[in-house]
Amino acid sequence: MATVGDVTIQEDHWIGGAWVSSPATFDDVSPIDGQVIARVARGGAKEAEEAVRAATKAFPAWARTSREERARLLHAIADGVEKRLDRLAIVETTDNGALLRSHLRGVMPRVAHNFRFFADWLLGLGHDDFETRGHRNHVSWDPAGVCALITPWNAPLMLATWKIAPALAAGDTVVLKPAEWSPLTASLLAEITVEAGLPDGVFNVIQGYGEEVGAPLVAHPDVRRISFTGSVPTARHIARAAAANLTPLSLELGGKSPLIVFADADLDLAVNLAVEQYDNAGQVCLAATRLLVEESVAAEFTERFVAKASTLRQGDPRDLATDIGPNIHREHVERIDGFVRRAVAAGATPVIGGGPDTDLGGLYYRPTLFTGVAPDSEIVNEEVFGPVLTLQTFRTEDEAVAMANSTKFGLAATLATGSRERADRVTERLVAGTVWVNCFFVRDLQAPFGGARQSGVGREGGDWSFDFYCDVKNTVTAPGGWNG
Ligand code: NAD
Repeated sequence: MATVGDVTIQEDHWIGGAWVSSPATFDDVSPIDGQVIARVARGGAKEAEEAVRAATKAFPAWARTSREERARLLHAIADGVEKRLDRLAIVETTDNGALLRSHLRGVMPRVAHNFRFFADWLLGLGHDDFETRGHRNHVSWDPAGVCALITPWNAPLMLATWKIAPALAAGDTVVLKPAEWSPLTASLLAEITVEAGLPDGVFNVIQGYGEEVGAPLVAHPDVRRISFTGSVPTARHIARAAAANLTPLSLELGGKSPLIVFADADLDLAVNLAVEQYDNAGQVCLAATRLLVEESVAAEFTERFVAKASTLRQGDPRDLATDIGPNIHREHVERIDGFVRRAVAAGATPVIGGGPDTDLGGLYYRPTLFTGVAPDSEIVNEEVFGPVLTLQTFRTEDEAVAMANSTKFGLAATLATGSRERADRVTERLVAGTVWVNCFFVRDLQAPFGGARQSGVGREGGDWSFDFYCDVKNTVTAPGGWNG
């Protein structure tokens, strides 16, 4: 057992309603100060097999459980999350370094909402029957089976429950493999599901490294759905494994999203939107890391951006006054720094930042903005996943759209403009799963969520989640043929 703050946390796998250890463990390190906070069970093929077996065994009874009862249990899980909000928040902050302020006010309430939303959506799920030459068509959403859910470290519990909640609502059973850099809140969620009364084996957690325990999980022939959030290279491995069994999969991947600032925009709003991209120390898939600014306002925009960014307070994420915390892991900081050093070597100019804050111990990367970047350079085209933005200018709307659509990604796009007509014109031409106009990060769970191009495959959210997590069936019944 580990203790974080005053919260005691299991370090084992949660399989079939029991805590299960492994012979080996791995160190879980806090990005706040680099200290080991837990020694977590390091699973492999054996644990993946046991978890899939437990989930397979639990599936028939859970699939037969009424929608109303499943919804009731999901609301009970949400109650458990709300009761432990403070504890979940401090554990997540210590584990992944994201702001305690955000966890308390936004993220953990959203975790509870994930369960409530999909519980309620399930009860309204349906399609009107329709007739074909007197025959009745009836569409149903049948539970599919065991879901393998693989999640990243940047918003661990929020992203995991965005998959767990619809999967459980759909009548599926779950094996969750959390990221090895932030494994702890998954164990707390397991405890919450017990308290809520979820039957054994319906929800399972296996801990460890992706290649060791994640790979055998996604390759398992009894897994009926794979939902993955993470990087493009890992997605390729997972897609290859899924191909062997033709397991349907949903992939939510990286991005290099643009924020397009037109000269007719409210510049204060545009600057605020731009500075917001440093949230979570830049470790946000949706972050608009490419600032595309109309040339006539670029100088003023840059000046105001630098002034605003310099007011951000970087430091301990447990301090409620902090705006930017650490990055997740020393290895990740080195990766970010590699991008920055190569950008400088290629001739880009760091207007602010450009390295980690050594006074804070090296894990806190300073918010960085580059100008003078070449359109085909690495820093403009590859996802850094840190607090590193680039600024490029454009002259015409066509040029802005072409630049916005120029990468291999298509997760999101944000535009700032004072013209409705322009917003409509530009939005129509952007390649992105989500477009925000004069706003950022407004997310409704009933909206489709996913990415175009290499930012993902498929959509989740509202009906789209149930379409993915269920076997959708159409039953055609003839008008006659009945005995009596
Ligand atoms: P990652 O791909 O390195 O790891 C994600 C998960 O996959 C981890 O749990 C890891 O253990 C597991 N994994 C690794 N190899 C595996 C394998 N062979 N088989 C099965 N599982 C394996 O990603 P990360 O560094 O944890 O997260 C950052 C990435 O996630 C960024 O690219 C970011 O944009 C993306 N992301 C996307 C979204 C979205 O909704 N589109 C949200 C958050 C993060």
